[in-house]
Amino acid sequence: MKKCEDYEGFELGPIRPPSEAQSLMLRITRNCPWNKCTFCGLYKGQKFSIRPVKHLIKDIDTIHYFVEEIQAFMAQPGGATQRQYMDLMAGRSENEKMALHTALNWVQGGMQSIFLQDANTLVIKPDDLIEILNYAKKCFPQVQRITSYARSQTIARISDEDMVRIAEAGLNRIHIGLESASDDVLAFVKKGVDKATHIIAGQKVKRAGIELSEYFMPGLGGEAFSNENAMETADALNQINPDFIRIRTLGLPENIELYKDFLSGAFAKLGDVPMAEELLLLLDNLSGITSTVKSDHILNLFQEVEGRLPEDHERMTAPIRTFLAMPPEEQLIYMVGRRTGIFSKLEDLHDSELRNHAEKARAAHRVTLDNVDDFTLEMMKQFI
Ligand code: SF4
Repeated sequence: MKKCEDYEGFELGPIRPPSEAQSLMLRITRNCPWNKCTFCGLYKGQKFSIRPVKHLIKDIDTIHYFVEEIQAFMAQPGGATQRQYMDLMAGRSENEKMALHTALNWVQGGMQSIFLQDANTLVIKPDDLIEILNYAKKCFPQVQRITSYARSQTIARISDEDMVRIAEAGLNRIHIGLESASDDVLAFVKKGVDKATHIIAGQKVKRAGIELSEYFMPGLGGEAFSNENAMETADALNQINPDFIRIRTLGLPENIELYKDFLSGAFAKLGDVPMAEELLLLLDNLSGITSTVKSDHILNLFQEVEGRLPEDHERMTAPIRTFLAMPPEEQLIYMVGRRTGIFSKLEDLHDSELRNHAEKARAAHRVTLDNVDDFTLEMMKQFI
């Protein structure tokens, strides 16, 4: 019988942040050790496990080997040909091909960054993580950035000393799914953390000199906790001062527990207009911080709400204020255009061609002010 410690070859996890498209993925753990958040279906039904350090060393060796092969091809007079890459693939197992593709993508991306998968790498022993980081840096000394997702609950348990050692070993960016800092919202969605712990974790990451991204999820409190979702989250972010605040609007795919709450009436979903009000409330209550706000997700109503605080506050919030001041029929055209992927920003309303498409989409789908929230819900499912 196969032992669970057997090495099964190079592995890739299912997701990475958009900003890590050119990074080398190293799968330190599989799936999520918490896996209870009611708004998240990413790892549902998947068992969490930690991969042995020696397996990660083998993964790194495999990528190192392929990187050298690829670079040797590229160094030939005239560069590498498609045929040569095909030859490199020939006779290899599916797993080796995956590693080779990963190496090729990384070489083409400049080999500057590594992303540690899956949901919460920092859950492994600090010494193990440091060993993996040291080995990766030794094999790839040119790497400038190593990033991981992490849970606040996990980080809060790591000592300051260990966090500094992890930073010194090369982990220099962490993404935390804060989502909300309202204790009511966090408890309702079973996030497994509270506001105080979010603050402790965020401040600890910053103290260690690691760049920090905190994700905020507009709409997660529904109608009941919309105000708290904005106000409590702004208060926590003001105490953390993360390098980045990333907006990722709630989506409601049918495979998540929160969707069942929505169907039963236990969760009253926000429409786009109150969602915009919630986002504005958050942004208007951020103060004394120097974070950069990013809106780099397709589910966000406004992709142009980006900039650095405090200087860009007025510019960032202007489209939200303009949207909220528009007549409902005009808001409707924007919501349909945005949710069908025709518009990416509010000023697209003034592009006559795009507007024409949006008006046709509204007519084709028979969207009215009465049914726009149902339409939005259905359209957003397609982007998740
Ligand atoms: S901790 Fe993250 S990955 Fe895990 S269930 Fe919650 S949102 Fe999903």
